[in-house]
Amino acid sequence: MATIFSKIINGEIKADIVYQDDQVTAFRDINPQAPVHILIVPNKEIPTVNDMTEEDEQTIGHMFTVAKLLAAKEGVAESGYRLLVNCNRDGGQEVFHLHMHLFGGRPLGPMLAR
Ligand code: 5GP
Repeated sequence: MATIFSKIINGEIKADIVYQDDQVTAFRDINPQAPVHILIVPNKEIPTVNDMTEEDEQTIGHMFTVAKLLAAKEGVAESGYRLLVNCNRDGGQEVFHLHMHLFGGRPLGPMLAR
């Protein structure tokens, strides 16, 4: 079964897509935790970081290039931002299609909740 993110990538489900190419798609999070909250997702369904292979390294590197580009486009490159990837239960992962969060637009506070 396709993940909810695959359905966004192939246009079956609507989302505010801010970037798309043959490797990755980026769209605004439905429940934003910061003024800028974008998800950068490989078009290929990789469930978690644990499932990535050497073959995926180029695409995952490309996710950083897209994050950098979007941070500049959203006007947070200079003020700063956070890139986050959750993995499995303790990481708080909810959607099992690898994705990178891009947060910015306000001071983001300490890295982990105590
Ligand atoms: P995770 O906890 O897996 O790292 O993050 C999943 C994120 O996906 C959450 O921040 C959640 O708000 C977002 N999300 C879940 N379903 C949808 C959806 O249908 N559309 C969009 N745009 N974001 C979603």
